[in-house]
Amino acid sequence: MINLNTGLNLRKPYESHYNAYRRFLIANRFQNQKTLTSELKRRFSHIPQQQAYKFLNRIVPTPNLRSCAPLAELLEREVCDKANIPYVEPKQLGRSHKFRNCPECARRCYHCYLYELPWLSKCPLHKVDLIEKCPDCNQSWPKLGELKRTRCLTCGTHLYLKNLRESGSLEKLRDTSSFKFIERAIHDYTGMDNGTTLSSEAAVNYLDSHSSIGIFDPYFPAIMSELGREYKDGFQSLDVALPKTIMKRFEILQKVKIKRTPFTYSNASKLEIRISVHERICQAAELKFGINPSKPINRFLDLGERISSLENLLKTTYKIWLSIVCECRKSNNGKAQHYGSEYFYCANVENMPLTPCIMDGIYFFEYKEYKIPGNINEMVIYATPESIQKWLYESDLWKIFRTLLFYLDSLNYVLQKHGNTCEIFRYIPQDSTPYSWNRNSYAFLQLSQNEGVCIIPENIGKISFDDIELYTVK
Ligand SMILES: [Zn+2]
Ligand SMILES: [Zn+2]
Repeated sequence: MINLNTGLNLRKPYESHYNAYRRFLIANRFQNQKTLTSELKRRFSHIPQQQAYKFLNRIVPTPNLRSCAPLAELLEREVCDKANIPYVEPKQLGRSHKFRNCPECARRCYHCYLYELPWLSKCPLHKVDLIEKCPDCNQSWPKLGELKRTRCLTCGTHLYLKNLRESGSLEKLRDTSSFKFIERAIHDYTGMDNGTTLSSEAAVNYLDSHSSIGIFDPYFPAIMSELGREYKDGFQSLDVALPKTIMKRFEILQKVKIKRTPFTYSNASKLEIRISVHERICQAAELKFGINPSKPINRFLDLGERISSLENLLKTTYKIWLSIVCECRKSNNGKAQHYGSEYFYCANVENMPLTPCIMDGIYFFEYKEYKIPGNINEMVIYATPESIQKWLYESDLWKIFRTLLFYLDSLNYVLQKHGNTCEIFRYIPQDSTPYSWNRNSYAFLQLSQNEGVCIIPENIGKISFDDIELYTVK
């Protein structure tokens, strides 16, 4: 039997599960991993491992099933209960992103679970970038199972309390106002009645919808800022980028109860909108670059050449765009049908953007009022006014163009560098990566009384190349 130290004295507010285990290892730095593991297992042998996990949720990064992190936390909880110290559960947001930390925080044995939010790029405490690698040993931040083996004083567990004190004041870590603000913004947002626009085809294809954005979406801070001055100030003080947004209010004219059957309202004409968006894209490109993207490339060029100059890049983007937006939505599950699918295969990208459709209905979760027990299929759909249908459809068309342009531009950059085409992911802007293509996660919808509100970022709601910066230049 050995004495285990919980590392409670190193605990700081808002810490992640990852950090809770790291400080446990630091506190027991003289024990080897095997001894620690078997001692923890011995003490908690009466608790099945799964139950420990159930209590503690998942652990970042990459859960190592043999790791004793959950047991270390059980130990801490037990110690707190015995000593009558309030137990504070470490947290994690639950979506495994690339694991990032602030080097200054790491040196002080700290990692906040809010660092998982992809739009948070700087540490609120030290104002330095949240990064994926430890700057001192140049390795990715160690995973749970690697912590004990890592000798680095910044990211490992061979730290001494003396080092922690010398590496700067711990006081800063106790200033939690920015973390409080982020938590509150998330809490406020998740408490709102957010709507989802649906197309008539939504009953057969769940992708035919625009769900209001979530907290992980890059536009979350910008949209919150539109909803209240205090959010804007808060996010700005954290150096979070806030792209401009456009807000439209509309009247709710009609509601219809449906039972899983497709519904039809008067629809804006897809073809007319596509033609007008095509014209506006061409005009905007002429204005910014002096190039008309709809003019075909007349010579035969290989794949690389077709994206290697700005002119060819725009023309190839246009051609793929046209192929995607004009396809019948149901027939495009396979990318082989689209022009240019080779560009996706070569970088191991599984899918292409889906053909957008008209969002003619809005659905809000109004269980209290409308949900009839035993009849879960019945819901109330509000008709989206034609002006909003048109606006969202235009935005989808333009978003696909932007997305393709950023994608091909990044691919060209990687090819020019003679890199591996899979590296493309490192260069595409966050809101245009393949993960975001078919999620439509940029709009926000809310309903109050009979009025609806729709907010989308300006760079998607307005056709313009002004904010587009490319690697490929003239
Ligand atoms: Zn920091
Ligand atoms: Zn390191």
